[in-house]
Order: sequence, then C-alpha cells, then structure tokens
Amino acid sequence: MSKHNICNFCGKDERYASILITGKNGVQICRNCIEIAHQMVALEISIKADFSTNGISHISHIPKPKEIKDFLDLYVIGQDAAKKILSVAVYNHYKRISQKVDFDDVEIEKSNIIMVGATGTGKTLLAKTIARKLNVPFTIVDATVLTEAGYVGEDIESILTRLLQAADYNIKEAEQGIVFIDEIDKIARKSDNPSITRDVSGEGVQQGMLKLLEGAVVNCPPLGGRKHPDQKMIAVNTQNILFICGGAFDGIERKIAQRLNTNVVGFQTKKEFIFDRNNLMQYIAPQDLKAYGLIPEIIGRLPVLTYLEPLDKTALRRILIEPKNSIIKQYIKLFRMDNVKLTFDENVLEYIVDKAIEYKLGARGLRSIVETMMTDAMFDIPTNHCESLNITLEYAKERIEIASKRLSA
Ligand code: ADP
Repeated sequence: MSKHNICNFCGKDERYASILITGKNGVQICRNCIEIAHQMVALEISIKADFSTNGISHISHIPKPKEIKDFLDLYVIGQDAAKKILSVAVYNHYKRISQKVDFDDVEIEKSNIIMVGATGTGKTLLAKTIARKLNVPFTIVDATVLTEAGYVGEDIESILTRLLQAADYNIKEAEQGIVFIDEIDKIARKSDNPSITRDVSGEGVQQGMLKLLEGAVVNCPPLGGRKHPDQKMIAVNTQNILFICGGAFDGIERKIAQRLNTNVVGFQTKKEFIFDRNNLMQYIAPQDLKAYGLIPEIIGRLPVLTYLEPLDKTALRRILIEPKNSIIKQYIKLFRMDNVKLTFDENVLEYIVDKAIEYKLGARGLRSIVETMMTDAMFDIPTNHCESLNITLEYAKERIEIASKRLSA
C-alpha cells in the first residue's frame, strides 16, 4: 500500500494532486475531482432551469449596427468593410432571435459569417469584441484540432462543449452565444478528388460541421473529449448560435485572379472593369472559397462573406497607440503602477512597426517586439525607484538586436 495520501474518488496520489482536501473520517478529495463535481452540479442546475421563455433572455438591448461599429472602432483599427458587414449581420442575427412566433410566417434565416484575411489582421479581435459588446458567451475553437468521429483529435461537438463551459453550463445562454472557428481554411478539401485518399481532417470535418451551422439540436459531451456510450449528453440547440469563421486562405488571391480574368474574357462586350491587383482580396466571392476547397454546403451556411485588409505601416502604427487597450497604453499603465512615467520617442514607434513588417506577423508581431524591448526595464524599474523612463531608438534597437542574437546563437 502507498504510504502517501490518495484521493478517495480517483485514487490519485497526493504527490500528483495539487490539492487534497480531507473531510470527516479522513476521506480525501483532489482538486481535479472537485472541479469535475462542480461542473456536474452546475450542469444539473442548468438542466433544471426554467426554459419556458422564448427569445432573447439576457441581452436586454440589441445594439443597432452603427452602435456596434462605433464599439468595434474603439478596439479595432481600420477594417471598415468587415466592421460594417459584421455589425449588420450581428444585428440581424439578434433581431431574428428576438422575433416572436409570427403572424406572417416569414422566418428570417440564420446568417453565419466567414471572414477571410491574412493572419494577425484582426479576425479574432473583431469576433471577440462583438461578443463583448453583446455580453454573450463566446468561445474560440481551432478547426485544425477537429477530426471526423473515430479519428485522433477532437469531435466536432467539442465546439459546443467549449461554449457551454464559457456560459458556465447555462444551456440557455450558450444557445445564444457566439463561436469563432479559426483556421477554417485548414479544413479545406486537400484535392479535387476526395475519394482517392481519406481526408479525415478536411472534407469529413466540413461535413460534420454542417449540422452545427444548419441549426440542428446536437448532443455534446458535457466535459469535452471523446464521446462514449455511457456518457450523459447535453442536447444543445444550435439554431440561435452565431458561428463566425475565420481563415487566412493563403494563396486564394490566385483563385480570385483566375475568376476575374475569366470573367473579363467571357464578357468582352461589357465595359472593362479595372481591378486593383494589389488588393484582390476585396473581390472575394463564394466561388473562390469553393475553388479553395470548402464544400458548397458549408459555403451555403456561411452566407455573410467579408475580407480583412492587409495592415500597412500606418495601420500598424495606429494599432500600437490608438485602441482603447493598445499595447503602448498597456505598458504605460504597467509602469504607472510602479509610479514610473513611461514615454517613447516617436522614432521608436516607427522602428517597432518596421520590425513587425519584417517579421510578417501582422499586428501579432507588435506585442512580442515591445515585450522583448521592455523586459529588462520591467525587471529593473520596480527596484530602481526612478520616476520616469524614456525609450529612445538607440535603446530599442539595442534590446531587439541582443534578443535576436540570443535567438540565433
Ligand atoms: P487574426 O485572428 O486575424 O489572426 P487577431 O485578431 O488574433 O488576428 O490579432 C492578433 C493581435 O493583433 C490582436 O490581439 C490585436 O492586438 C492585434 N490586432 C490585429 N489586427 C488589429 C486591428 N485591426 N486593430 C487593432 N489591433 C489589431
């Protein structure tokens, strides 16, 4: 017998359980079992909750499109086309949910959204900010971890488990939440002929995802992971869940160009339209998604299609300083908490932007560059008792160069 204490529920040894709580008669329970028990209790309470009321329960006020866009403007720089389309789509979605069973039988259909744009241009940020405005449960899932049932990876239904967890197992709230499915382009069909090889992480996943996008009632395992026969499932109605998909769709410009060129040839009698060849993404159409490998049924369930612009120097510079919680504002606040006034020379901001462009990570690179630049200062300042710190170009360059030498060593 082990001479160590163990959890009486799962048998875990105290050396591997971060907390072991002892009850009457020496019965012990570990942290993991407490968490599972908590989720089960929350679930039970939520299942027993009263579902008699219809429509929007906790979204007391549905903001108008302009109000949604104004809110997005506080956090997201540029991307006006996407912001407008998203604001209208979200407004319509929540109007649809709040519609009463009606006299005229006109049923407004669900309009899920797909956003196409390079990595780090703000797709996730837009979805997150909308969820924040509406104050609904929100979750982000990565399409690359999903596989067809029976294969290694996560079941499609785990998407809903995450949403349930975000809603603290309040099913009713989860059923009005927003799911952001990232990297949807990675489950594009790999070849034009799917029958040659099994495409478990491509077309199969798209097929599986259809039932969520269509608005079916889906049984999902409350604690995630793989489904198994004895597990108690929770039925989640996906009819009112808004799905926003995002993907970089690398190389899709070629498909857009091909389509545009064919059109020009095909309709020579029409006045020729001059395309902006440097930004073909703005002409994206559902056919291009199909050419890229999304199945038509999925495209049909994502009727709102929008694109994000690549971020140029001006946009990156604005991202550094303008948003409500911009990176620079966050650092100034961090230092203010140690009573230090932090300032940056103008040319330091230019330098950070140039580096971000060099690393080709969009705005995603900005934070890591600033973090690298500021690490030593953040280490020293709390004990140095200085009142102010100004970051000069010389200092910034030195920090970044030392760090990149360290990485390449
Ligand atoms: P994506 O989902 O397109 O890959 P994200 O939305 O995750 O990109 O962006 C990564 C980070 O870059 C965000 O946390 C945000 O700080 C910043 N960012 C990206 N685009 C913008 C933007 N348009 N405005 C403000 N910040 C942005």
